[in-house]
Amino acid sequence: MELQELIQIAKENGIAGAGGAGFPAYGKMDKRAKTIILNCAECEPLLKLHRQLLEKHAYEILSALALMADAMEAEQVIIGIKEAYQGAVEAVKTSLSDFPGISIGLLPEMYPAGDEVVLIYELTKKVVPPGSIPIETGAAVFNVETVYNIYRAVSHHIPVTEKYITVAGEVKHPTTRVVPIGMSVEEVVKLAGGVTAKHPVYIMGGPMTGNICGKYDVITKTSNGILVLEENHPVVQKKQGNARINLKRAMASCCQCQMCTDLCPRNLLGHPIAPHLFMRAAAEGDVRDTRPFLNTMFCSSCGVCEMYACSQGLSPRSLIAECKAGLRAGGVAMPKGIKAAPVKDARSYRKVPVHRLRARLGLDLYDLPAVLDESKVTAREVKIKLGQSIGAPAEAVVSCGDKVAAGQMVGKCKEDALSLPVHSSIDGVVKAVNAREILIAAEP
Ligand code: SF4
Ligand code: SF4
Repeated sequence: MELQELIQIAKENGIAGAGGAGFPAYGKMDKRAKTIILNCAECEPLLKLHRQLLEKHAYEILSALALMADAMEAEQVIIGIKEAYQGAVEAVKTSLSDFPGISIGLLPEMYPAGDEVVLIYELTKKVVPPGSIPIETGAAVFNVETVYNIYRAVSHHIPVTEKYITVAGEVKHPTTRVVPIGMSVEEVVKLAGGVTAKHPVYIMGGPMTGNICGKYDVITKTSNGILVLEENHPVVQKKQGNARINLKRAMASCCQCQMCTDLCPRNLLGHPIAPHLFMRAAAEGDVRDTRPFLNTMFCSSCGVCEMYACSQGLSPRSLIAECKAGLRAGGVAMPKGIKAAPVKDARSYRKVPVHRLRARLGLDLYDLPAVLDESKVTAREVKIKLGQSIGAPAEAVVSCGDKVAAGQMVGKCKEDALSLPVHSSIDGVVKAVNAREILIAAEP
């Protein structure tokens, strides 16, 4: 298949990175990519969907990777997967003989192995320059569900209308399900038997990078998990902190031990982010040297500094995120042309083991199988967000009262911009449309 044809298919079918920031997949399809990496690192504690999906559909995913490699003229494809995911590793090994250009790259059970910069280094020993994107090292990274969506679009003309999602934590039966995009968090949690917490708090995503959401929030193309926890759980309390209090606590008790920087995965790879320097400058309000503030742009928001490293329970990641948001709002662009320092020798023994992270977060209790169930899930109503990926949001092409079918495009992508269309995930009638979303109710 020609690259332009593949790009067109990925665009028309609304394929965004199925997790993380949701970069449109077509934007990564580039002939400069000599190495395609399948990201099956899945390092957020408790989330299991990608390894389960790879185990169940290894052949389809490998065939899509081979097709992508052919279209992009890539020299190699590496399946980046943790050795611990034995079922998925075995499934891939069983299919590998049919795909000579594809190999397995085993990863340690560390966090954040799924961060593209970390993943590329682990598999190729190349460091993505600070502020740059993977293609600068000749690599393009796609996660498992994204590639599965490419397979479905190319082989069966199916657009992205469903999402694999792990439901874990304070639920009766942790599970991984395939749900219509736009289904509410509350309805998805019911598929896991309902909540067991007295005062539940919902987190969209994993415990490290996920955000607290409401039960009426909806699943999008980038939702990977719903974690339900008690409101007094340390993970929840950390995510509920506010900047003013976080800063006061930093002023009162940051002892400059530097543990946050010593364990920062980006710092260990030579990127110029040093959270302890930022904490000192922010706590003292010292702006004579602006580098600690500007260098926050190189933080990946992985959360190692505040969820694992800091023994004082401080919140460098959250404060850094506030600073980054302020810089962006003020029109400060990502610094370019910055070179990474040499990778630190200490990196080899400063990787964060997932089992220790899980224990530190108080989540061992919830580390249960969450078996994948692909049986059909029906929704009474879905709310399709027009902006589900990086770039310009889609523009609605339906109006109130229109009948729509599952798979029908209801929002077209914006011309001449990085943008993706959105599709209805159910048969139904459009009940409301505004600039942000389309509400569709199933017909009785
Ligand atoms: S680990 Fe905590 S106390 Fe130590 S320098 Fe970092 S923020 Fe300060
Ligand atoms: S969140 Fe903290 S540990 Fe992670 S990259 Fe940013 S500063 Fe480093």
